[in-house]
Amino acid sequence: MDIEDLKRKNINFRKKWLDTDPSYFEKLQQGQDPDFLVLACSDSRVGPTTVTEMEPGHMFIHRNVANQVVEGDESFAAGLYYALVHLKVKYILINGHTNCGGVQAAWENNDEEGLQGWLKYVKDSMPERGATTEEWTPEKLSKFNVMVQMKRLQKHPVYQKHGEGVQIIGALFDLKTGNLDVFDPENLTEEEREMLGY
Ligand SMILES: [Zn+2]
Repeated sequence: MDIEDLKRKNINFRKKWLDTDPSYFEKLQQGQDPDFLVLACSDSRVGPTTVTEMEPGHMFIHRNVANQVVEGDESFAAGLYYALVHLKVKYILINGHTNCGGVQAAWENNDEEGLQGWLKYVKDSMPERGATTEEWTPEKLSKFNVMVQMKRLQKHPVYQKHGEGVQIIGALFDLKTGNLDVFDPENLTEEEREMLGY
């Protein structure tokens, strides 16, 4: 991919929408009304609108490495506030994925200096070693990471103040199959329930 590809793909994008509706972009510029706030990983393979084929206007998205909810992250806090107070989203989707490099680096205790400013938060999201007999496969770690962020989000001051009635959903995108596994809050294991305080 190069800059020419970027331009060509944008031309295709415009053509696709204008073919379906010549006033598509006129309508788009009038405002957004997304139902989802999505917190996703920065990984180039897991774009939330790409994997769900969501049209423009339906997902307000915040991305960082390993989809972390960090209370002191002002960028996330402002986005969360805006999504809840002004956009009035119905759902907050924490969208993790398998083969997450951030999760793996944290679990393997990576100590590369340039990464630690953020990786320290991901390390805090990992299960305690030896606390359970669970065998922590990369998939399980990624799911655990999502569950931790769901719990953190429930306790986030902005969510506490403005999030009443807004459902927190977890999901894991499986790179091996392309499947997005949305965790049904009704269908969690006992351990998961306990962890999330349901
Ligand atoms: Zn990732």
